[in-house]
Amino acid sequence: MGIKFPELEQLERIIEQFGDRAQTQVIERIQYKNLEFPIHCITLGSTEPDVPVLAFFGGVHGLEKIGSEVIMSFMQTICELLDWDGEFVARLEKSRLVFVPLVNPVGVYLGTRSNGNGVDLMRNSPVEGIGTTRLYGGHRISPLLPWYRGDTLKMEKEALALCRVVEQHVFNSPLSIVLDLHSGFGLKDRLWFPYASRKTPYPYIAETLALKELFDRCYRHHVYKIEPMCKEYVINGDLWDYLLNDFVQQFAGERLFLPLTLEMGSWLWLRKNPRNLLSRHGLFHPLLPHRLQRVFRRHFMLFDFLHRSLLYPDQWARLDTGQKSHYENKASRLWYE
Ligand SMILES: [Zn+2]
Repeated sequence: MGIKFPELEQLERIIEQFGDRAQTQVIERIQYKNLEFPIHCITLGSTEPDVPVLAFFGGVHGLEKIGSEVIMSFMQTICELLDWDGEFVARLEKSRLVFVPLVNPVGVYLGTRSNGNGVDLMRNSPVEGIGTTRLYGGHRISPLLPWYRGDTLKMEKEALALCRVVEQHVFNSPLSIVLDLHSGFGLKDRLWFPYASRKTPYPYIAETLALKELFDRCYRHHVYKIEPMCKEYVINGDLWDYLLNDFVQQFAGERLFLPLTLEMGSWLWLRKNPRNLLSRHGLFHPLLPHRLQRVFRRHFMLFDFLHRSLLYPDQWARLDTGQKSHYENKASRLWYE
């Protein structure tokens, strides 16, 4: 039996509103008890393989459904822009946007971090963290404990579906950025890049720092703390490290792929409304409507910046050898000492 719940209904309304202006696809169907949950993928813009791609993923951790909601709110904005904003339409003719707002629909429906099998999808890949001993780093003890990695031999359907989307719609592009939206404890909104599994620079560290500096210069008062995820913690099974390793093996010198994670700081909501502590979603989700609206608005500037930076990459993605080693040295001092 097909399932209905508010976030899925909202997504299906948006898909309907896009109509033939978007390509939509059910990339997987997840069974939970006697219910069936679709995972939708929506793509907009050029279908040419050589255009830059910006992709959004949300709801990997079902409890952090704010990520899904931010993406859907952004999609709604785009849907309206397409009616009148010639510049935005022209931008889409030269680029592609990909959206999977509900990666873990069962988790969003149940309000759980893990999927219906008790697996934490962001611990589910075969990548082993270097030097991680904490439970939150991912374990195979029991699905009854949080951060369970799942089976050694096969990844979960939701994780595989995410990987397929990235391989099909992102890896074919010469230049791509992925943004995976989460929420977690903290006072700041964090923008993380790989690695999550080890405390060493990743192959695109120079481009990442150049992009960060461009962002810092253009939006001096932006709210993000930008750093490698391993600065915060090292984990097993990260899906983005897994996809990145795969990408580097296939396309190392010729293409560029930056998988970013936006971790929205939930203490921001808690401090302003302690009632959040008492609600099931509370720590991971702003409760008051005006605060929710503020979260939506807050990140659209970042999305827009990333989209434009993909269309005009000269300053950050086309570095010569000298610039590359300049940024690599600078990144080492900034993040890895
Ligand atoms: Zn998360």
